[in-house]
Amino acid sequence: MTAAVVCSADSERDQRRAAAALAAGGLRAGDRVVVSAVGSPGLLAVVLGALRTGIVPVVLDPGLPPAERAALVADADPALDVAADPGRLLAGTEQHDLADVPLARPMHYTSGTTGRRKGVWSGVLPEDRARALAAEEIELWGFEPRDRHLVLSPLHHSAPLRFAVHTLLAGGEVLLPGPFDAARAGAAISALRPTTTFCVPTHLQRLLARGGIDWSSFRRLVHAGAPCPVPLKRAVLEAAPEGSVWEFYGSTEAQFTVCSPGDWLAAPGTVGRARPGRRLETDERGQLWCAVPPWARFEYWRAPEKTAAAWRGDRVTVGDLGRVDDDGLVWLDGRREDLIISGGVNVYPAEVEAALDAHPDVVESAVFGLPDEEWGQRVVAAYVGAADPADLGAWARARLGAAKRPKALHRLDDLPRTSTGKVRRLDLPGVLGLDGS
Ligand code: ATP
Repeated sequence: MTAAVVCSADSERDQRRAAAALAAGGLRAGDRVVVSAVGSPGLLAVVLGALRTGIVPVVLDPGLPPAERAALVADADPALDVAADPGRLLAGTEQHDLADVPLARPMHYTSGTTGRRKGVWSGVLPEDRARALAAEEIELWGFEPRDRHLVLSPLHHSAPLRFAVHTLLAGGEVLLPGPFDAARAGAAISALRPTTTFCVPTHLQRLLARGGIDWSSFRRLVHAGAPCPVPLKRAVLEAAPEGSVWEFYGSTEAQFTVCSPGDWLAAPGTVGRARPGRRLETDERGQLWCAVPPWARFEYWRAPEKTAAAWRGDRVTVGDLGRVDDDGLVWLDGRREDLIISGGVNVYPAEVEAALDAHPDVVESAVFGLPDEEWGQRVVAAYVGAADPADLGAWARARLGAAKRPKALHRLDDLPRTSTGKVRRLDLPGVLGLDGS
């Protein structure tokens, strides 16, 4: 039998114990508790025990280098750091009252894909707003008591934690097979028959490459976090049950869209339409802004200048560029920070990457800009796959205008990534020894 730790609604007793231990430690609503353990029922009990008493859990990657961890802990300024052992908060027998919905929202640090991580703070919600938020989340994905949710992404990221927490609040089970590994995850899918999961496209690519997986149990297979290449999405739609493959566009800060299989099939490449209660539009620079209800507001932790730059009234931006078409479908061009301006032309890495990824011997690619006397910035690409650089260069010349063509192509065994599997373009010059060029 495939191993996975199962966490279910019976964990309520442990959540009460965790809440009692936090209260005994003097923690009050709005205080922070740092937890940095691998995904386990104990971790989820502490997170839910905290949330349901208005204490804010700050879930950190347990694999962080000590100096980076120390810096984040100092920044979070917690009342308690339970480090790697959340289980010790469950040892007592004392019980504690819990609200039936989370009164706080976990605070997360962004992935740092484009630079330094930012702490996202949503604070403690008044009961009516907490209720509105919980109802909205549960309705959006239709979490049910019969759900068996498979955790494929680390719980220190916002979407994976949100999915796990809401499955438990809806009375379902959470399956924790351990850190992602395609063989183990594939076996868990076939053997444990999960009904829902959340993952990033890299997970899907690795699972499909492995093959032999029985996807038939899924009713909702949700992906987000990074662009999903069109051929990969088609392959997932083919493998999984009809109607089960959903996507959203969002960030650590908020979820902005929802993309049904029908919307995507009608307009392949879209990231869907504004989720209910939201409105998306672009400004004069092509930057996406989303109007959000009051309970979904957030700020950047102890960074008022970043918060002020992100908000205009009830509208917020996380710096993505894109457009909303006449049917209300949203199309992403990429991150503001990743935009390359080469010879006066705006070059979106995603467009160049899509052209390179279409080569039959390219598994994936990542494009970035380097300073250049002639072009201002020149386009450089790294890729994984058997393609010969000269052949791939000719392929790119046939498909991309002069400014968009990579001026250099570097083959790598893998691309530098964050712990969710997102490519860190920022690290590529260093990895390739091109710093300072
Ligand atoms: P940092 O802001 O510190 O660089 P990060 O923003 O990369 O970190 P996340 O919050 O994990 O950390 O990533 C959110 C970003 O991922 C979005 O702003 C968007 O650029 C991208 N993204 C999210 N969902 C999708 C999607 N469905 N398709 C394409 N890109 C997506």
